[in-house]
Amino acid sequence: MIALILLCTATRALALQPSDAAWVQRGTPGYEKLLEKNWVGNVEFGSAKAIVPASLEELESAVRGARAPVRVVGRGHSFTPVAECAGGTLLSLARLNRVLDFRAPMADRLGSITIEGGCTYTEVIQHLGERGALRNLPSCPQFTVAGAIATGTHGSGIHIQNLAADVSMLEFMLPNGTTVSYDRERTPELIEGVRVHLGCLGVVTKLTLDVVPYFEVAAYRYDDVPLETAIESLPDVFKTCDSLSIWTSGFGTGPGAGLAWMTYRHFHPHWSSHAVPKHVPPAFGTPQLAKMERYLTDPADPKFFSPTTRGPWSTTLALTIDDELEETSMKALDLQSEFFVPLEHAQDAVRAVAEVASGWSFSSPHSSVGTPVKGIVDAFEFRCVKGDGSWISPHPVDSLGVHTSFNADPALLEEAKDAVAAIEAALRPFGVRAHWGKLSSAAAHQIETSKLERFRALCDAHDPDGVFRNEHVRRVLWGKD
Ligand SMILES: Cc1cc2nc3c(=O)[nH]c(=O)nc-3n(C[C@H](O)[C@H](O)[C@H](O)COP(=O)(O)OP(=O)(O)OC[C@H]3O[C@@H](n4cnc5c(N)ncnc54)[C@H](O)[C@@H]3O)c2cc1C
Repeated sequence: MIALILLCTATRALALQPSDAAWVQRGTPGYEKLLEKNWVGNVEFGSAKAIVPASLEELESAVRGARAPVRVVGRGHSFTPVAECAGGTLLSLARLNRVLDFRAPMADRLGSITIEGGCTYTEVIQHLGERGALRNLPSCPQFTVAGAIATGTHGSGIHIQNLAADVSMLEFMLPNGTTVSYDRERTPELIEGVRVHLGCLGVVTKLTLDVVPYFEVAAYRYDDVPLETAIESLPDVFKTCDSLSIWTSGFGTGPGAGLAWMTYRHFHPHWSSHAVPKHVPPAFGTPQLAKMERYLTDPADPKFFSPTTRGPWSTTLALTIDDELEETSMKALDLQSEFFVPLEHAQDAVRAVAEVASGWSFSSPHSSVGTPVKGIVDAFEFRCVKGDGSWISPHPVDSLGVHTSFNADPALLEEAKDAVAAIEAALRPFGVRAHWGKLSSAAAHQIETSKLERFRALCDAHDPDGVFRNEHVRRVLWGKD
């Protein structure tokens, strides 16, 4: 009888366990196939064995016996095959997503948050609430922190480095299941080298981020700005606020021709001593006050935000989180490329892109009314990233990011690829560098030779047999076809 009760209890307990797919989905629609392909669906992970370990012990035994190549998928938002691992092993750390330690920021010292390798920015935001903040956020807090820093993901701000710069400690699990860690105090030089790593140094099992005091963001959005005025203001306009995004669908013909829309953001209070002027309304109009749909929100479950507002850092800096700090659903509607050029070339670089893009078809801009028009390009976005010292960072100097969202319709894929190549070619004279997670050619990953050699040497020390390397990273980091 006792055996029967135990069996029933065990069966019920098992029945209550969410499936691997449910773990990786984490309650947000759009991630159901994450163990098979990336979020947008342009990269299949191949016939890999997928494992979603529930503990560090399970992770260790999965890594020790794993068939190569071994890759980890974070939230699968990279458009490049960084997590592809045909014939090998695909790991998801969706169940290793706990906050391990939190120290609140004080008047005279930074705070910190230590998390497991599967934790997302949403989960960090939810844990912090109003007790602290991160210096910046990417557009989507759906990303895992480990996955975002691995590719050098960034927000916008002339005084703000990419998100990897906020990491003060990183721990990797190596192919033999042991761990190695780096931190700012013990290994100040090496932590620079390992922050941006493309998954080549092992599995990130835990990491610590700086936490600054809670702040609010005042956002001011202006629509229908004459595009030429926006271009003429580069790069100085970035100094007029803490964070700025400039979008346009207006290089070609169509409903947005010749127009841009701009969001200025001011931090209150600012976490650094940089004196940024108060917001001075630019000459081109009044701020947009009407509520708008959040980025990529599912029309069946739309979420709205006020583009000109003052609100918490988390929901005002990020685009795909609602006022209750829950992730909004995201429709996989775009394919993206992003290239960086030194900031001093901002104006010439944008003009060069305008020239190649002038014949393309553009979708209606976000602000337009009437029947929406779909083109090959949805929008360009220009942001700014302060230079950092990570060895394989795509922004070693203060940079302008030239981002393009392409219509993800598979029928337009070849046209989109040609357009990516054209943008890359237009930016080559300015010393172009590509985002590690977005579409580009391998040649656009320009890393200073001495830094690249040091990074490769560290990869060899961590992983002498190259277990954590897939075809893609061999091509972009080791130049092997
Ligand atoms: C809608 C959308 C908006 C975007 N907005 C921005 C933006 O604002 N700014 C920007 O810079 N980029 C942006 N990106 C690109 C995105 O930030 C990067 O692709 C980022 O790496 C995605 O994080 P992820 O958790 O999905 O990682 P994945 O794409 O799953 O993985 C990225 C890399 O990290 C590795 N990895 C993940 N977890 C681990 C781990 N625990 N240990 C070891 N390696 C690991 C993977 O193997 C892979 O190499 C955007 C992408 C999309 C789809």
